[in-house]
Amino acid sequence: MIADYHIHTVLCRHAEGEPRAYVDRACALGMVEMGFADHLPLLGDWRPSADVPDDLAMRRDELDGYVALVQDLAREYRDDARILLGIEADYIAATLDETAAVLQEYPFEYVIGSVHTLGDGLVFDHSALRGRLRERGVDGVYVESYGLVAKAAATGLFTTIGHFDLAKKFGDRPRDGVAVAAAASAALRAVAAAGTALELNTAGWRKPVAEAYPAPNLLAEAARLGIPLVFGSDAHAPGEVGQDFGRAAAVAREAGYAALLQLSTGRRQELV
Ligand code: ZN
Ligand code: FE
Ligand code: FE
Ligand code: ZN
Repeated sequence: MIADYHIHTVLCRHAEGEPRAYVDRACALGMVEMGFADHLPLLGDWRPSADVPDDLAMRRDELDGYVALVQDLAREYRDDARILLGIEADYIAATLDETAAVLQEYPFEYVIGSVHTLGDGLVFDHSALRGRLRERGVDGVYVESYGLVAKAAATGLFTTIGHFDLAKKFGDRPRDGVAVAAAASAALRAVAAAGTALELNTAGWRKPVAEAYPAPNLLAEAARLGIPLVFGSDAHAPGEVGQDFGRAAAVAREAGYAALLQLSTGRRQELV
């Protein structure tokens, strides 16, 4: 079973189930490598806009416990699976220095760089705020989010880029497809130039958009650019680990991928 590098824990305040149950699920699927990548705490003085619910991430004083939790599971399960210590870090320009510092402070084996938040603090993918995305203007959200992805990649802080086209989550499609496609292409070129990998995130199939991130045409563009690919379920419940990976493998092959990046070794692994 292909490795799942995007697994959350209850520490983030919007996931459920015991961390161990996620690992057990992965092992039951025959997964021999996986990675936890829970949400990095909000850092410094930065806070999202006032209407964003307080359930985005673990607290700063819980990060030590998260690292210990994953390391303990990795030790306990080492005969069955390789469990990597990852983290999902937001790209937030205002706290980039704090982000870089905290990523240095812990022995993370990879970092997923994610854009969930626009420059004004709107968390555009939050299920409690889906109306705000439309108010804000769907195309503007797409274009700004792709611009932030490009900047995130250019920092070099991130191993992979999470859910590349997250703006589509609630099924809002761009009006000006040409302008939005240009922004997406620019972001992909930035990812390629930075040598950052991309995640095929199967959670999109569980959302209103009913499409994995990134969309097939963007994935094909990524393949042409030679961007390495990993899989992530973005599991927020044990049953979601490895979900739709068979379907994802077919989509990836169709897009032109013949191999995935194995994060434990940095080597390419044939996509079978
Ligand atoms: Zn989450
Ligand atoms: Fe995310
Ligand atoms: Fe996630
Ligand atoms: Zn996520």
